Amino acid sequence: MTTENSTPPVIDLRSDTVTKPTPAMLAAMMAAPVGDDVYEEDPTVRRLEEMAAARFGLEAGLFCPSGTMTNQIAIKAHTEPLSEVICEQTAHVYLWEVGGIAFHSGASVALLPGERGRLTAAQVEAAIRPENVHYPTTRLVCLENTHNRGGGSCYALDDLRAISEVAQRHGIARHLDGARIFNALVATGQRSEDYGQLFDSISVCLSKGLGTPVGSVLLGSAAFIKKCKRIRKVMGGGWRQAGFLAAAGIYALENNVARLADDHRRAARLAEALRAQPYVAEVLNPETNLVIFRLDDTQPAAEFLAALERHGIRASSFGPQWIRFVTHLDVDDAGLARVEAALAGLAA
Ligand SMILES: *Cc1c(COP(=O)(O)O)cnc(C)c1O
Repeated sequence: MTTENSTPPVIDLRSDTVTKPTPAMLAAMMAAPVGDDVYEEDPTVRRLEEMAAARFGLEAGLFCPSGTMTNQIAIKAHTEPLSEVICEQTAHVYLWEVGGIAFHSGASVALLPGERGRLTAAQVEAAIRPENVHYPTTRLVCLENTHNRGGGSCYALDDLRAISEVAQRHGIARHLDGARIFNALVATGQRSEDYGQLFDSISVCLSKGLGTPVGSVLLGSAAFIKKCKRIRKVMGGGWRQAGFLAAAGIYALENNVARLADDHRRAARLAEALRAQPYVAEVLNPETNLVIFRLDDTQPAAEFLAALERHGIRASSFGPQWIRFVTHLDVDDAGLARVEAALAGLAA
């Protein structure tokens, strides 16, 4: 197929959720053996759940359509009305999940200010409610790694251990929103197997940097996942021949993890290009695949995004004058060079 007046492909830096499955991933999906997953008869779903759980040193997994669903199911399973969840004030579970903690769980939220989204053990400990009839009961601490709003920031393992120790000492459950946990593992060299001791439940997105079209897995103990399966069902998330989608997840776990380092390298290059522009006031040092930066007052954000659009480049607004670029499977070095040229052109 040839096009005469071919326009270059759009470079979509809005999110790492925009990736399309590669031919090899699609082939794996089409070849998947499937069955009715509500009857627990889909062998591919079962394989994905077992494989993901084993990677993180946990017993069982639950494949779901979205990371919002896996997070909200976990929070509901760990809490009850009149209880409270501790999280960072810009956590995805609080900020970008439609107020689901109140809606699904009837729980209160204790919001803490983090350093690029990271909490400390001392902060968590200070937020735990003492026994008092006036207070909700603290039941859960929820961390996010990498932290989205914090610009893809990663926790050090020692800091996670310290928070985990505080939670265990107070009998509080530990959930990890690991939408981009593989970015954190690749960037820090941490081992996924160590996470099973640090958290009671982990949500992992397959549709972000790992490049599948749909899906997240929730991981935890066998008893916890059994409880979560009922909550998924009441949310309407019991699905049938989901193995076609699970096969994409298996393919991604086997093939798309190590390559996240390429996304991180490209994010670092984008940050460098941004720092060289006179109209960029501030760039958060990218630790993984997210680059968050602030335009100075001479460059209105809406105009900046419109100018990029004219070059076939898409990005997200992230608050007044703040923009987010995300690198992923569908952004290669040629695309990166086009972004660099467009950024330099805006300064001219
Ligand atoms: C994307 C994301 C999720 C889940 O998003 P869905 O679009 O519901 O899959 C959860 N947490 C974080 C930090 C995310 O970035």
